[in-house]
Amino acid sequence: MDQLPKRPANYVPLSPVGFLPRANAVYGDRTSVIYGRVRFTWSQTYERCRRLASALLRLGIGKNDVVSVLAPNVPAMYEMHFAVPMAGAVLNTINTRLDANAVATILRHSEAKLFFVDYDYVRLASDALKLVAHESGGAPHHVPLVAVIDDVDTPTGTRLGELEYEALVSNGDPNAELPTLTDEWDALTLNYTSGTTSAPKGVVYSHRGAYLSTTSLLLQWGVGNEPVYLWTLPMFHCNGWTFTWGMAARGGVNVCIRNAHPASIYSAITQHGVTHMCCAPVLFSILLEGADGDDAKLEAPVHVLTGGAPPPAALLEQVERVGFKVTHAYGLTEATGPALACEWRDRWDRLPLHERARLKARQGVSVLSLAHADVKNADTMASVPRDGTSVGEIVLRGSSVMKGYLKNPEANEAAFRGGWFLTGDVGVVHPDGYIEIKDRSKDVIISGGENICSKEVEEVLFRHPGVADAAVVAMPHPRWGETPCAFVVPSRDNKQHAGVVREEDVIEFCRKHMARFMVPKKVVVVDALPRNALGKVEKVKLRAEARKMISV
Ligand code: ADP
Repeated sequence: MDQLPKRPANYVPLSPVGFLPRANAVYGDRTSVIYGRVRFTWSQTYERCRRLASALLRLGIGKNDVVSVLAPNVPAMYEMHFAVPMAGAVLNTINTRLDANAVATILRHSEAKLFFVDYDYVRLASDALKLVAHESGGAPHHVPLVAVIDDVDTPTGTRLGELEYEALVSNGDPNAELPTLTDEWDALTLNYTSGTTSAPKGVVYSHRGAYLSTTSLLLQWGVGNEPVYLWTLPMFHCNGWTFTWGMAARGGVNVCIRNAHPASIYSAITQHGVTHMCCAPVLFSILLEGADGDDAKLEAPVHVLTGGAPPPAALLEQVERVGFKVTHAYGLTEATGPALACEWRDRWDRLPLHERARLKARQGVSVLSLAHADVKNADTMASVPRDGTSVGEIVLRGSSVMKGYLKNPEANEAAFRGGWFLTGDVGVVHPDGYIEIKDRSKDVIISGGENICSKEVEEVLFRHPGVADAAVVAMPHPRWGETPCAFVVPSRDNKQHAGVVREEDVIEFCRKHMARFMVPKKVVVVDALPRNALGKVEKVKLRAEARKMISV
């Protein structure tokens, strides 16, 4: 064995970018992207990406340079997932719902060299660029070059900066020599966390990690050849949880829509025969809103991979009735998207729908790209017993965990212990090995020495017929230290409750369905919960509200 070289002579580093030349060779004449009236084939997408990569090189963009982009799910956003790394650079997709300050912070921290801006976000981008220019004291090299992405379907002629996306593509050279990737650990993309619990951190993915995540998710979700994938999940969220590259791997059709409105989702489903889509659970209410009437049924099932926040079992049940076949995954930016997937067991098919929904609401087992996922006592790093009740921190180890945080050695140091990545989420392991998240460590409510998982209280609130949405946070209490405070949004549809829900009724309902110490002492009825750009409830804001209230 020792006489053999460490690597074969034809070794090629793992990279999901390589799925594109393969798609060109294997699925060349098949549709790659649909957007309004625009259609591209895989050969065209490959050519466009090569052209763009060569244009980037001409602009002086090269290895490890950061190219930022502020865009919805349009073809250009898709193409950049290949073209930017084909030039050796690192793609940084920015959440379009951030404010100018946050965008400026990212541009500064990432030292972006080039900034692509969709025409709809020109105002936000120019405000952010002014902040960057102001803080750099006029030093021009700190301000990125700017290129507008106009609508390829119906151009608007909007301008910002000197460059324009389509012009770069058409002036690029499809035959130019592009750099060769030599190390699979090289940086591929840079994604900032949504900052729900701490300041956003820049998470760097390697080519290797993204390749393994992409292939493992395709396998675990059971995505066959030539799927029709609807882009409802923003590509700026963990690179569309890697399905940007995944669709090239499967020769899929990328159906791009600018906004995930119920009408555009359902019309895309019928018009293009959508087979797959991903979304945060917050989109479930949009799907239900668009479903026509109580007995609505899709003509063919659509596979939905959901994650990013806990999906309430009651909502899971409702969307499955409409014909969506939901797979539940749990993940975080640092894990290149999903880290656990609730793998389905055939024997569960025989259970009643509500029981299936309860099992599906569990976060699941480790994805294939991880060597291991476990729940450990964060002090001793001992695994908790598989009893469904002992809580510990969810920890991960393996190839799809990030390369690291950009320019943040303290955070890198704190994120790992004994070779494990600490997720900051608290969970249990059931006897069948399935992990269930109970809370984020910062969201656990400690009442009189007892730990209360806000998610358990929320699950009960979601079962109240008059409650459409709910979140539970800690409220200071003179005797118990902390006690649960619930914020609930009344359901508009329920005939009996029709927009009215009373604090006493909710408390009474909770008393019947949970241990006494878990019952919220206060229930606040609100019109809507504050949610961040990814649909996660902003518990920081709710905690601040709860602090203002005096416990009784
Ligand atoms: P941030 O940590 O800033 O919110 P992320 O977008 O990376 O940024 O969010 C990851 C977090 O989202 C996880 O740590 C977890 O708390 C939550 N999360 C993700 N998926 C699920 C899920 N399926 N169930 C419950 N919580 C989830």
